[in-house]
Amino acid sequence: MSSSGGIQDSDVVAPLPTASEVPESADGSEVRPGRLVCLFAPFLYLLKPRKCGRVMASSPWCAVIAYVLALIFIWCTILAGVVVDEATQYEWDGQNMKLTERSYADAWASVTGDMYFPVHPSLLIFAFTTLWALVATLVIAWITFPVVHRSGSAFRSFGRALRVAKGAVFGPGLVLVLLFTTSIVWCINASDRQFADGLPGNSYFIEVWFGANFVGVWVGIAILGTWARRAAIGARSTEMPASIPVTCEECGYDLTHLPEGGRCTECGEDTRVSLEPAYRRCGVDWERRRSVESWLSANLGLIRNPRTFYQELQMRGDDEAGFAFAFCNYVMIGLASAVSILGMYFIEEPTARLLNLLAVFAVGATLPAIVAWLLHSVVGAIAATLLLIRPMSRPFAYLSKIWQYESAYLWMIVAVGHAFAWSFVIFEDWMSDILSAIVGSGSIFAEPAVIIVTLIVMVAGWLLRYSRAIRLVRWANL
Ligand SMILES: [Zn+2]
Repeated sequence: MSSSGGIQDSDVVAPLPTASEVPESADGSEVRPGRLVCLFAPFLYLLKPRKCGRVMASSPWCAVIAYVLALIFIWCTILAGVVVDEATQYEWDGQNMKLTERSYADAWASVTGDMYFPVHPSLLIFAFTTLWALVATLVIAWITFPVVHRSGSAFRSFGRALRVAKGAVFGPGLVLVLLFTTSIVWCINASDRQFADGLPGNSYFIEVWFGANFVGVWVGIAILGTWARRAAIGARSTEMPASIPVTCEECGYDLTHLPEGGRCTECGEDTRVSLEPAYRRCGVDWERRRSVESWLSANLGLIRNPRTFYQELQMRGDDEAGFAFAFCNYVMIGLASAVSILGMYFIEEPTARLLNLLAVFAVGATLPAIVAWLLHSVVGAIAATLLLIRPMSRPFAYLSKIWQYESAYLWMIVAVGHAFAWSFVIFEDWMSDILSAIVGSGSIFAEPAVIIVTLIVMVAGWLLRYSRAIRLVRWANL
């Protein structure tokens, strides 16, 4: 793709809408909220992530202090959880297993008196929680970066994404840690008491509780991610570009002064393609009206003919439709996977109890939906990182929208994944059988290796789709 004669822009960017919720002063600059509001924004605006993102992004120092507070709170919560867990233990007392109930003070002494480790156990817990919080923060910042970055310095945009991530850890992150630590510790204690009573018949409740915690933690991660994504929209820079020239969609040539004859003087393309919405970039059905039909046609269009889809998609519209599209895809992938997994489970266990079937359905819907969201986010972040290596600011403003619609490709990966799973259910070890017929001996690594290689190839194909989509929309004016 040659863009000779085109504008090699570095500052030009499409005027994408910013959902402004924080008041702006007359000259357009952001009004700074007070320090306390900044500091506690993740709680004040727990249910308004966009607004929280806007406030957090405006104050780097408040984000740092909020983050340090978050780390201390999380540490205290986990430490308290360990102590409460220690207070009720089904353990070996030297002769036999028995239930030990301690006061919290004794439990504290028991935890902190544990000298298996060279450092104080509470410091160890601090190191452990801090490490995980840091990893989570960096991952959240990385996957929200494509939403935050529009133009200008990528470094500054990453700073904004990082502040969003810190807000996510301080606000919803803290609430979730509190909720799940409490629930998991009580659940473990209840199960300890049950073991001590010699496991009477109704251990059902605890089984379901454990299951609910397991699914709940994953749902919590998804809530955190979704919250951070919405906050990221609010954290976008409000700086407006100085000038936005109209360009030829094919080659990027400046069309501010319309050439005579209605054709681009650089590449000869009809200028109506670049300038008239009714001509080619007419918008897609999903953005006009959200229905099952338009959702299906967008997915089919993206898989069968992405070129046409991206030539018709209007790039300067609102982001909401795209986010809703991706969200619908996660939910539907979860439901479709649950049906497929339930089918496989039923073939393996035809006499399963109803409760087990329900559990399989719940886990079979939640985990695939969340894995789909995570894979989609990570591949989007990889695409954004690769785009940084070849910086072109204008496509960057459009990347968020491409990313939303590329969620359609998840269906291909899901289809291949379930095809593999069903083939193993029906034909059992067909892959190692074929391999041992060819090589002479099978290997336990053959199946995972084939699946991993397939996934890598599919992700590479996905990145190629991103690159093609970017080339199709990079000079869009509409
Ligand atoms: Zn042209």
